[in-house]
Amino acid sequence: MISQNSVQQILETAKVEEIVEEYVNLKRRGVNLLGLCPFHNEKTPSFTVSPAKNIYKCFGCGKGGNAVQFLMEHESFTFPEALRHLAKKYNIEIEETQTSQENIEERQYLDSLFIITEFAKEYYSEQLLNTAKGKSIGLSYFKERGFREETIKKFGLGYAPEKKDNFTLAAVQKGYNIELLRKLALTSQYNSDFFRNRVLFPIHNLSGKVIGFGGRTLQKDKKIPKYINSTETEIYNKSKVLYGAFHAKKGIRKDDECILVEGYTDVISLHQAGIENVVASSGTSLTVGQIRLIKRFTPNIKIIYDGDPAGVKAALRGIDLILEQDMNVKVVLLPDNQDPDSYLQDVGSGDFKNFIDKNAEDFIIFKTNLLLKETKGDPIKKTAVIKDVVNSIAGIPDPLKRSVYVKECAHVLEMEEQVMINETNKIVRQKIYKKRQQDQIASPKAQQQLTEELMSLQPSPESGIGNIKKDTQASVSNIEFQEKDIARILVSSGGELFDKEKNITVAAYILNNIEEVLDDFENKICEKIAKESLNLLANKKPITTNFFFNHEDVQLGNFAINVAISNYEYSPNWKKMWDIDLQTQPIPEDNFLKDSINAINIFKLRKVEKMIVKNQQNLKGYTDDQELKDYSKYQKIHLKLEAIKIELSKKLGIVILK
Ligand SMILES: [Zn+2]
Repeated sequence: MISQNSVQQILETAKVEEIVEEYVNLKRRGVNLLGLCPFHNEKTPSFTVSPAKNIYKCFGCGKGGNAVQFLMEHESFTFPEALRHLAKKYNIEIEETQTSQENIEERQYLDSLFIITEFAKEYYSEQLLNTAKGKSIGLSYFKERGFREETIKKFGLGYAPEKKDNFTLAAVQKGYNIELLRKLALTSQYNSDFFRNRVLFPIHNLSGKVIGFGGRTLQKDKKIPKYINSTETEIYNKSKVLYGAFHAKKGIRKDDECILVEGYTDVISLHQAGIENVVASSGTSLTVGQIRLIKRFTPNIKIIYDGDPAGVKAALRGIDLILEQDMNVKVVLLPDNQDPDSYLQDVGSGDFKNFIDKNAEDFIIFKTNLLLKETKGDPIKKTAVIKDVVNSIAGIPDPLKRSVYVKECAHVLEMEEQVMINETNKIVRQKIYKKRQQDQIASPKAQQQLTEELMSLQPSPESGIGNIKKDTQASVSNIEFQEKDIARILVSSGGELFDKEKNITVAAYILNNIEEVLDDFENKICEKIAKESLNLLANKKPITTNFFFNHEDVQLGNFAINVAISNYEYSPNWKKMWDIDLQTQPIPEDNFLKDSINAINIFKLRKVEKMIVKNQQNLKGYTDDQELKDYSKYQKIHLKLEAIKIELSKKLGIVILK
C-alpha cells in the first residue's frame, strides 16, 4: 500500500491545472481557468479549474475534484493507479507501507498472470501478421471484413495456428510456468493449446490489460462451435466484463451514451467508422455487473438489434435488468437480415449514424408496440401483454419516470390510465414487501427508505396522498439544508478565526454550540464532517479545506469540493418562510462570521421546535384528575421554550406568526 505520507506528498505536489491541461484546452478567466468539459458535450465552456484551490468543477454536468479525482474520472484509474501516475509525473518516490506477505504474494501472482496474457496476445498477433498461414487465413479474413491494419493492431487481433501445442511450447520455452498457463485456460491438462485454428479477439479489462480471448473458427464445419471464449479465471470474470469497454470508455463519456451490440466484429467495425462508444456483451445475456460497469460512465444505453423480430423478443427480458438499475434504454432495430457490421458496410458510417439516431426508440414503448402487434386483438393475449409491460415499468426505481411510462403505455394499449396505475402500484408494492422480507434484519434506516418508496407510489387522483408527500419532502429538504450549511461553513472556513482576540476558530465556535445535537444530524455526510472537525479540534490539528477535499471517504470529499466551489445558494425556502436577508455573492468566504451565527441559531431553533412539540405531547396527556403540579411544570417548560424560540427568531430576523 502507498503510505499516508506519500499520498499527502503527491496531493500537495500535483497541480490540478497541469494535469487537466494534458486533456483540456484551458483559457485564463480571472483567477480561474476555463475550458470545454471533457466529461460531457458542450459548446460553451463551463469547466472551471481553480489553481488557488487546486480543484476543478464543471458547472454543466457537476463533476468536480482534485488532480487524483480527475485522473480517476478521465482515465478510469483506481485511486492507487492515479497516485502512481502522478508520482511518476512529479518524480515523487512512493513509500510503501508494510503489507502482509500474503498481500504481496497475491499481487505478484496476479501480475504474473497479466504478464502471460500479454505474452499470449503478442504471440497470437505475431502469428497473424508475420506467418504465412496467419496472413493467408487470419489476416485475409479480417481484411475481408474491412478492418484496417491500424484497427487490427489497436484491438490486438491475433491468429492461433492449427498445430496442437504451438503456443504452449513457445510460452514454456520463454520460461512461463505451465501451471499458470493452465490456470489461465490457455493450455489444457494434456498440454495442448486451448485456441487452435481460430482468429482471436483479446478481451481487455478497463485499464487495458488482457484478461482473456474470444476465438472464432474460420472453418465451415457446422459441428465446430463458431465462437469459443476463455473460461473464467482469477482475472476474467465474465459477468463483469464488456468487450470493447477499454476502447469505448472515452467515447461513452463524450457522448454520454453507450451503444450495445452483440459481436466482437460489430464493436470493431463501428469503432473503426468513428462510432467509438460501443461495447458488446459477447453473446451472453447481460448481467447486472455489466450494466453497472456501463453506469459508471453513463446512464444512457442504446441497444442495436439485428433485424430479426424473433431474436429481439428473446432478448427483451434481459432489458428489465437495465431498467432496474435506473438506466435509460433505447433500442434500434436494424433492417431485415442485417447486423451492425453488415449494415455499416452497406450504407457507410454517415448513413449508419443517421439511421440509429432516427430509429432509436424508447425501450418500453418499443416493447409495448412489438408485443401488441402480435396479439391481433385477442383479449387474453392482450392481458398478458399488459402484465408484461406493467412488470417492466414497475422495475423502474424512479417514481417520476414510472408515471410517465404509465401514461404513455396506457395510451398505446388503449386502456384507462387509472387501471394501469393500480396495476403498476400493485407490483411495486409486492416488490417492496418482498424486499422488506429479505431485509428483515436491515437497519431502521433501510426500513424508512422502503416506507418512503411506498409513499412515492402514484396516488389515485382522488386520494390526496400526493399532497402529504410534498409537504414532508419540503421539511426534510429544509433540515438537510441547514445541516449542509453547517458542513459547508466547516469545510470552507472552519479554520478561519471567528474571534481574533480570544483566538477562537469558526469551527470551534460552531462545534461548541452544537455539540449536544451532533447525533441529531439527518445527513450522515454532514454529521461526519462535523465529527471529523471535532476530532481535529480535540487533537489541536488545523482544520483545512484540503483535509476534506482529500478525505478517504470519497463521498465526503465530493461533498467538500461541491460546497467549496459551487455557487453559494441558500435554501429557496429560507427567504419565503423566514424572510431572512439573503446574501447573494457567489462564494462568500468573507461572510463566515454572519454565516456561522445564523447557521447555529437556525440549528438551535430547529432543536427548540422539536422540544416544543415533544413537550406539547406531555401537556396533552394531562386530564383534570392528574396532579396540577406536573401540568404546570410542563406549562413552564413550554413558556421557557417559546421564549427561547422568540429570542432565536429575533436574532435571525424571523417574524413569527401567531
Ligand atoms: Zn461537464
